[in-house]
Amino acid sequence: MADTPDKSVERKAGGGEVARPATVRPYESLIPKRSPVADALAPAAGFGVTIKNFFSRTVTEQYPFETAPVKPRFHGRHQLNRYPDGLEKCIGCELCAWACPADAIYVEASDNTPEQQMSPGERFGSVYQINYLRCIFCGLCIEACPTRALTMTNDFELAGPTREGLIYEKQDLLAPLAEGMLAAPHPMVEGTTDTEYYRGEVTGPTPAQVDWVAEQRPDDPTLEAARRRVGSAPATASAEAPAPVGREPR
Ligand code: SF4
Ligand code: SF4
Repeated sequence: MADTPDKSVERKAGGGEVARPATVRPYESLIPKRSPVADALAPAAGFGVTIKNFFSRTVTEQYPFETAPVKPRFHGRHQLNRYPDGLEKCIGCELCAWACPADAIYVEASDNTPEQQMSPGERFGSVYQINYLRCIFCGLCIEACPTRALTMTNDFELAGPTREGLIYEKQDLLAPLAEGMLAAPHPMVEGTTDTEYYRGEVTGPTPAQVDWVAEQRPDDPTLEAARRRVGSAPATASAEAPAPVGREPR
């Protein structure tokens, strides 16, 4: 008599046997069962959300015609800031680039010279790039910056048609000159070092800086406003007079 095959085991192709479960459990749905009435009302319940929103106030943003305000601490496009006399705050230290987890920042520093003083102290950022294809807007770079040169604005409109266009150069990131600021390069305020600048004691350009720019670049468009600002300041500080433009007394 031939051997009856054992159905509780399965033979593998290369030899050997694999045990099978003794019984196979029938399929059981894990979805809880509903009553026929609940089943019949289910579509109406689904449309209930639609109908409720149909009659509620419209919240569609009319962007880009109306820009919705963002939260004050929103992380948007970066900005390279200036001191009140127009000198740049960036000293080209590269700490922002080292802090960036996405390797999105590239900085090259150069020496300040008497003819080309761009920032207080010895060095300034001559090349500054942020690659917005890489940036994740984490803000670690602005935390690392020792001079608060780098901050983030609320500007989120950073889309563009080309990859090159999303690599922002220094001129794209520099804060515009406010009324009365003198465009760099120009000497630092007389009698100051970078320490006074860091402490916020410089509050605007001085007559000597205006004269220097007038001599070097008589057509500089910022001269006129700087002249007005300097000319309106009192020559000496007194208890009644407003704070002089140039440097705050300690
Ligand atoms: S926000 Fe973050 S990812 Fe973007 S440049 Fe700064 S450190 Fe890099
Ligand atoms: S932005 Fe700040 S951290 Fe970056 S190079 Fe300039 S000074 Fe240094």
